Amino acid sequence: MARYTGPVCRLCRREDVQLFLKGDRCFSQKCAYERRPYPAGQHGQGRKRRPSDYGQQLREKQKVKRMYGLLEKQFRGYYYRAARMKGVTGENLLSLLERRLDNVVLRCGFGSSHAEARQLTLHGHFLVNGKRINIPSYLVKAGDTVEVVTGSRAVQKIVDSLSKVDRSPRPTWIELDKENFKGKVTALPARSDIAADIDEQLIVELYSK
Ligand code: SF4
Repeated sequence: MARYTGPVCRLCRREDVQLFLKGDRCFSQKCAYERRPYPAGQHGQGRKRRPSDYGQQLREKQKVKRMYGLLEKQFRGYYYRAARMKGVTGENLLSLLERRLDNVVLRCGFGSSHAEARQLTLHGHFLVNGKRINIPSYLVKAGDTVEVVTGSRAVQKIVDSLSKVDRSPRPTWIELDKENFKGKVTALPARSDIAADIDEQLIVELYSK
């Protein structure tokens, strides 16, 4: 599956929020958004105009899409799937995104960014319920366990990420057993479990036009 390979800090600057796409660097003074909190480019510091309704909806969608490291086609696919599910579409959408295996790997602290978690997943470092799964878009269910393959527990990226897991708030729907490199999905993520500042209703309005 294709993915965005360009500079990522400019995405935070464009969306005017820290998206935490670069692991350690995001928590340091080198964070580009902290130093230059305006869009990159010649007109980045120009006069800000009040965005139209469409502009607001578009920016919210772009923000969430970039937060989870997805491209438009994949993201739209999640929206349509969420719309077919019972319940509130926007909340279903966020729940589906949170349940992706690469996201769960990140939330468990086995990777320090979405890109890293995705790469570690693709390289087959994780077992889901004892079975090796190397598909980042795999959706976990309540009761699933995600653990690092025994032979991968010395992988430096995983060890480093796990040692810094406590710097971000731990999601309540994942129980982490740090010593055994294992995370358990205790429940499906509800809207209240997702701390990121997202107005999912704007995304629903955009796609339902
Ligand atoms: Fe965004 Fe992280 Fe880059 Fe800061 S360091 S601008 S949070 S990706």
